[in-house]
Amino acid sequence: MESSPVLSSPARRLEGKVAIVTGGASGIGESTARLFARHGAKVIVADIQDEKGQEVCREIVGDGGVASYIHCDVSAEADVQATVEIALRSHRQLDILFNNAGVIVKDQPLLEVDRSDFEKVMVVNVIGVFLGIKHAGRAMATAGGGSIINTASVASVMAGMTASPYTASKHAVVGLTRDAAVELGRYGVRVNCVSPHLLASPSVCREVGMDARVVEDAVEKASVLRAAALKAQDIAEAVLYLASDESRYVNGHNLVVDGGYTTTNPSLG
Ligand code: NAD
Repeated sequence: MESSPVLSSPARRLEGKVAIVTGGASGIGESTARLFARHGAKVIVADIQDEKGQEVCREIVGDGGVASYIHCDVSAEADVQATVEIALRSHRQLDILFNNAGVIVKDQPLLEVDRSDFEKVMVVNVIGVFLGIKHAGRAMATAGGGSIINTASVASVMAGMTASPYTASKHAVVGLTRDAAVELGRYGVRVNCVSPHLLASPSVCREVGMDARVVEDAVEKASVLRAAALKAQDIAEAVLYLASDESRYVNGHNLVVDGGYTTTNPSLG
């Protein structure tokens, strides 16, 4: 066993790294952008909610971190390409992409889903993730390394939780993650995804028409863990692990963060 010095506390796990966080103006992305910055990363928040995104960056900078905002619609290839180029121009490197922006649609029976609703979900949740992998992946492959983390969902490993287009899109995110992990791994670029259980983010509360406390109560009841409801911070901590060098041998993995929900025997109630 090698001897090693005692760690300085708090250990900054992303010191010197540059990270893009899509969907960083709200919810899981916002929480992750703040955590990345606390761990020493220079963060680029990419979103379509410009005021909120700029506010998040101002607060990160006010807390002593480094962050800047870019308007980026992840479904528009020119925006995604420009975001990667700006990161490289500003910081001369790109180490991490948290490919997180996503949309949900209201839950409804598959036989009643409009084609346009299906497309709306796929174009952000799947094509947006593809474009991020493509442009950040090229830059990282050229540099010889990097970490891409895509946001899937527990709807990537089970059916019947929510609207079919969303389930299909998150299954696709896992497929893309695995394929990209195989293709980009040879350049030293790791690609993983994280699959959160339900949490009371603004988009979820809006789509289910419930306030945050009601959503949190439902999640607490469904959890196997006798713990408080899942929070965006819990997902951010999992993403931090996948972004950091501590996960250097983890590639093509879907890290499910659900307190054991998807492993529960349904007959246990
Ligand atoms: P959120 O609404 O709080 O945040 C989503 C962010 O993505 C928003 O800031 C929004 O402006 C941005 N966004 C939407 N479309 C975009 C686009 N085309 N280009 C750029 N940015 C765009 O929601 P959240 O819960 O934090 O969702 C983040 C991710 O987590 C999504 O991929 C979602 O599917 C996934 N997820 C959420 C939950 C949950 O229960 N909240 C569970 C599993 C997975």
